[in-house]
Amino acid sequence: MAAGALSKTTKTTASLLQCTKKIASRTFTTQLNEKQKEVQDLIRNFSNEHLKPHAAQLDRQGRFPFEQVKRLTDLGFMGACVDPEYGGLGHDYLSLAVAVEEISRGCASTGMLLSIHNFLFANLVNEKGTPEQKEVFLRDFTKGSIGCFALSEPDAGSDVANIRTTATRDGDHWILNGKKSWVTSAVEGSATVVFATFDPELKHKGIACFLVPLDYEGVFRGKKEPIMGVSVCDRAATACDLTLEEVRVPASYLVGQPGEGFKIAMGQLDQGRIGIAAHAVGIAQAALDTAINYAKERVAFGKNLTRLPSVKDRLTDMCIKVETARLLTYRAASDVCTKNSAMAKYVSGRNAAAVADHCVQILGGRGISTKYDAERHFRDARGTQIYGGVTDIQKRLVGHFLLKEHNAL
Ligand SMILES: Cc1cc2nc3c(=O)[nH]c(=O)nc-3n(C[C@H](O)[C@H](O)[C@H](O)COP(=O)(O)OP(=O)(O)OC[C@H]3O[C@@H](n4cnc5c(N)ncnc54)[C@H](O)[C@@H]3O)c2cc1C
Repeated sequence: MAAGALSKTTKTTASLLQCTKKIASRTFTTQLNEKQKEVQDLIRNFSNEHLKPHAAQLDRQGRFPFEQVKRLTDLGFMGACVDPEYGGLGHDYLSLAVAVEEISRGCASTGMLLSIHNFLFANLVNEKGTPEQKEVFLRDFTKGSIGCFALSEPDAGSDVANIRTTATRDGDHWILNGKKSWVTSAVEGSATVVFATFDPELKHKGIACFLVPLDYEGVFRGKKEPIMGVSVCDRAATACDLTLEEVRVPASYLVGQPGEGFKIAMGQLDQGRIGIAAHAVGIAQAALDTAINYAKERVAFGKNLTRLPSVKDRLTDMCIKVETARLLTYRAASDVCTKNSAMAKYVSGRNAAAVADHCVQILGGRGISTKYDAERHFRDARGTQIYGGVTDIQKRLVGHFLLKEHNAL
């Protein structure tokens, strides 16, 4: 190419960059209405002030984020979508997804906790509970008590219809027996949703859904699970086994009808996936923030890393992955259905892991040093492809609904 042509190209590129400068510095807000943008601003500021500065220490020391939960309670976000009549804010799902994203950007552990408490516990009670259930399982739970969701079992994770915890009717009570695994926040929580079968032969049609206070006789919480990333033994959020031995639950704590448990679980998981997708977007954004800040300062071969084509390429790829995941997540939160939420979770989980991997690489040796944030983002990102339903299942769900839409099953 002639020198003149090159300088023309350079000028054109420069003016193109100039024109798009405004767009480039803009964060994603186009899908949000005024109220949702207010939530984004409020929680982003909260996260920068109260979460981000403490996230690494909470993770390292394995401290549960009690203080952070208290502050979120004061802001009303422990009942983000709950009717104001029961102490909630009455927000829509997209506002809650935005809040989970911003919180996870500051502290993934707090984001995970908030996501499950709201999307899988509080929203379930708010939408499916009787007035009595709402009195008992919402009022305190919008004021700081933590709720959980106990579906998985040692021998039934993805294979939900195969759960073995039993529910036996005894007069005006149900007796629950069995073991649940990986119940997020159960160590610190006050109540949980429990799914149990009253007739294993009926498979998914034999499942019922109950609300169970965790201080009931016969409820035993196991030890915190030692795993990488959020929800771990040595880290800020927690998950543990729950053993149920002859637990007597009032019949009035049954949600819906006895055979409706599977449908309730699946409906709630449509929301739960949006929560984990938003959580993954927040972790990915945090990894991108970390990488950009580092690359701007670090000099190699006489230039900042941002000027090295391979680093620029990685940052660009990270940006595209974050924005793609965010768009799908916001879309799923605005139009909740299994296909949308599974697609959002599939993409967000995979993208978060890839973005966090790039982040580690950009920080070089410091990327795997526990003194820097990159390795924490890496650990936090990986789990988002597992909890809330593994990536493989999300893909199957998308395929199933795609073919169903085309009458091709
Ligand atoms: C940190 C953490 C927190 C959690 N919190 C909760 C919680 O609060 N409440 C709760 O109920 N559960 C919770 N879980 C459980 C979580 O939802 C399950 O771990 C998850 O659904 C996968 O189940 P599993 O571990 O039994 O894996 P399995 O079901 O045994 O699957 C293992 C692997 O097998 C493959 N596989 C299995 N089935 C299929 C299939 N049909 N098609 C294709 N591939 C398949 C996939 O590769 C999958 O990754 C949590 C888990 C973790 C790690």
